[in-house]
Amino acid sequence: MFGYVLDEVFVHHRAPAGHPERPARVEAVRDALLAAGVRERGHAVPARPVKDEELAAVHTGSYLDDLTRAVPGRTGWLDPDTYFSPGTWDAARAAAGGVSELALRVLSGELPRGLAVVRPPGHHAEADRAMGFCLINNVAVAARAARAAGAARVAILDWDVHHGNGTQRIFWDDPSVMYLSVHQWPYYPGTGAPVEIGGEHARGATVNVGLPAGSGDDEYLAAFDEVFVPTLVSFAPDLILVSAGFDAHRADPLASMRVSRGGFGAMADRMRAVAERVAGGRLVVALEGGYDLDGLAGGMSEVLRALADDAVAVSLDQLAEAPPRVISAPARAALAATLEARAAGGRP
Ligand SMILES: [Zn+2]
Repeated sequence: MFGYVLDEVFVHHRAPAGHPERPARVEAVRDALLAAGVRERGHAVPARPVKDEELAAVHTGSYLDDLTRAVPGRTGWLDPDTYFSPGTWDAARAAAGGVSELALRVLSGELPRGLAVVRPPGHHAEADRAMGFCLINNVAVAARAARAAGAARVAILDWDVHHGNGTQRIFWDDPSVMYLSVHQWPYYPGTGAPVEIGGEHARGATVNVGLPAGSGDDEYLAAFDEVFVPTLVSFAPDLILVSAGFDAHRADPLASMRVSRGGFGAMADRMRAVAERVAGGRLVVALEGGYDLDGLAGGMSEVLRALADDAVAVSLDQLAEAPPRVISAPARAALAATLEARAAGGRP
């Protein structure tokens, strides 16, 4: 029975009027997952507060000091996009702690897979700064906690429409944690070029696919089938974490991609299949962005289906034998640029 994190604490991170990263996001996901029977099909895992040592494994002491001085119980801004309210500190600590707890329980074998519906999101948060609605890098905290608990290799797959600059930077020179991202390119936050493949000690452990605006299911699935799936199979992580944003949905107000609800399900199916093949099935999906409530709730419902079903919906062998998808020429060039950068830069 898979585990899930779903908690009222995330509603109390209150947004200023008109801000897209708002409590209604997790309420919409909660309602959709409850309607899909998440309580009956899964096992609730508490969103416990992140531990100090888990935070210290990712963020600098001076940044954590700044946060604990500025944020608890107060209202304000950490950068032009990133607000906080009196409930933010508890929500941020629960988001990182919830994802970490789920990852540790999956790693130990207590639960086979996990789904974390958390906010604030995390993938823009760097070791020493808040950015892009993110205070604490939830998935990075979970990856480091899993490493500390004995995982030799962890992979983070980020399908949020924005590049996860924070996650990339945190693991830039760490060959034990692979970071793979597909994102709109060029776009906020400006990082994520195909030539960004990792630091001196981790060449090839960062994988960036920057797709042109207007890309949809076929372009995304080509990135998975031609780049991410074979790369993950050869890396053979002990655990796969997914930074799951749903802002590549065609209705999303913040970006210009055209992914459908079913497209998110197909991406989740591939991560489930890769996890079953090389990671003992160990897969944890954590919410990042996604600002159209129906697109967000629909995409998460598809992820729930992919995680909750006993059977895996896709066969990697069949995918490997399928001819390349017909996709736009700029998207085809984007995939080629990623593969060329990998070939030129070496692999871990
Ligand atoms: Zn995003």
